[in-house]
Amino acid sequence: MKDIDVKHTDAEFEKVLRSKGLRRTVPRMTILSILVKASAHLSASRLHHLVTAAQPTINVSTVYRNVTAMTEHGLLHSVEHAGQTRFGIAAAPHHHVLCEHCGILTDVAVANLTQTAASLMARTGFEITPSGQVLRGRCRRCRTD
Ligand SMILES: [Zn+2]
Ligand SMILES: [Zn+2]
Repeated sequence: MKDIDVKHTDAEFEKVLRSKGLRRTVPRMTILSILVKASAHLSASRLHHLVTAAQPTINVSTVYRNVTAMTEHGLLHSVEHAGQTRFGIAAAPHHHVLCEHCGILTDVAVANLTQTAASLMARTGFEITPSGQVLRGRCRRCRTD
């Protein structure tokens, strides 16, 4: 299970938006629902592509404006990768795993790396930033292809 406390219901999305001082709007609700369902971090253009499947009238600048607002309010956070900004839910501190094959960028709970971080510190004195690391590899789907 992912370390995320946003449930996939409109009432929950609205509650989360309100808790961050944001109003419930169709673009915001749609973006949140897509990010939770994808359980990955997506670029604004990828988000727009998925948003229009549900809401064809929402344009890319609306998507961009809303992910920016939600990021500024701490509901989403952004990760830079290969010159592209991806947006994900900022529910709990987490690291990221990036599939070098298909490019999916997803969350890993900080707890999964706690032991590794502690042994690295003991051996080398190097302290890993508590969240936001990007680990590279192959996702489950690409490994089984
Ligand atoms: Zn993230
Ligand atoms: Zn993959």
